[in-house]
Amino acid sequence: MSRYPRENFILSGFICIAFGAFFTVVEVYTLASTVGVLGIILFIFGMSLRSKLGMSESAIREWRPDEGQLPDAGRVMYRVDVTMDEPIESTIVCGPCGKITVQPGPRPDSFICPSCQVQLWAAEEE
Ligand SMILES: [Zn+2]
Repeated sequence: MSRYPRENFILSGFICIAFGAFFTVVEVYTLASTVGVLGIILFIFGMSLRSKLGMSESAIREWRPDEGQLPDAGRVMYRVDVTMDEPIESTIVCGPCGKITVQPGPRPDSFICPSCQVQLWAAEEE
């Protein structure tokens, strides 16, 4: 199984549509319609696969940044990733200790790492 099934289907679809167009040009209509329709089917299937993957919660939940310490650039380093789809979750990687904290909701205004008690960021005062 390919790592990128939807890209493969969409690519296959494009290639078939391109061949279909080519055969139309050289007046091989039977072949053109067969390959062209196959291309459109593959293309649509690829697109539907994409939307399914886009809504797959498990795929989002399985995705996590690598746990590990971030390079120390003279200040507290951290990384925040917020999911694009429901349920909204913020994944925070603590630079000083390298621990990952996952919490529901968008990026909080301020965050203190529960592992090492370092304040990673605070709400900026105007
Ligand atoms: Zn920490």
